[in-house]
Amino acid sequence: MDRTFVMIKPDGVQRGLVGEIVSRLESKGLKLIAARFEILSEKRINEQYREHLKKPFFPSLKKYIMGGPCFLMVWEGRDVVSIVRKVIGATNPQEASPGTIRGDFGNDIGRNVIHASDSHESAAHEIAIHFKPAELFPYTRIDESVIYEY
Ligand code: UDP
Ligand code: MG
Repeated sequence: MDRTFVMIKPDGVQRGLVGEIVSRLESKGLKLIAARFEILSEKRINEQYREHLKKPFFPSLKKYIMGGPCFLMVWEGRDVVSIVRKVIGATNPQEASPGTIRGDFGNDIGRNVIHASDSHESAAHEIAIHFKPAELFPYTRIDESVIYEY
């Protein structure tokens, strides 16, 4: 099983979308193995978005993410990194397809509701930034045998 880091950003939390988003990922057959609310420190935001530190949008991104509690999660499933990226949709909600989280709930690239790791490497890195191993709770979903063919 693969793992990925997913985070509902402050706009998603404040708009009451936590339940809807968790429900979409659970219904897809993915397994939630860790979750908590947190206002991220500047240090953790810098680590999380390290490839964007020099980008012109980084100061406003940091202010946005620090503007309220985020809902941090780890999800498990086969090919979960690429599956979750498809479920959340394109970075710019104006380009995100209907049916995706950003396509259905977002409007502005600077308020795009949700983050998810974009590769296995970034998933491993981001999970380690935000969660201790003891905070992850793997278990067997009772429907696993009917979600996967093998
Ligand atoms: N972002 C922004 N303006 C931009 C590009 C990105 O505000 O022109 C923000 C947006 O919140 C995005 C985050 O920076 O989700 C990280 O950008 P990335 O390109 O990694 O997109 P993502 O992986 O979140 O789809
Ligand atoms: Mg990214």
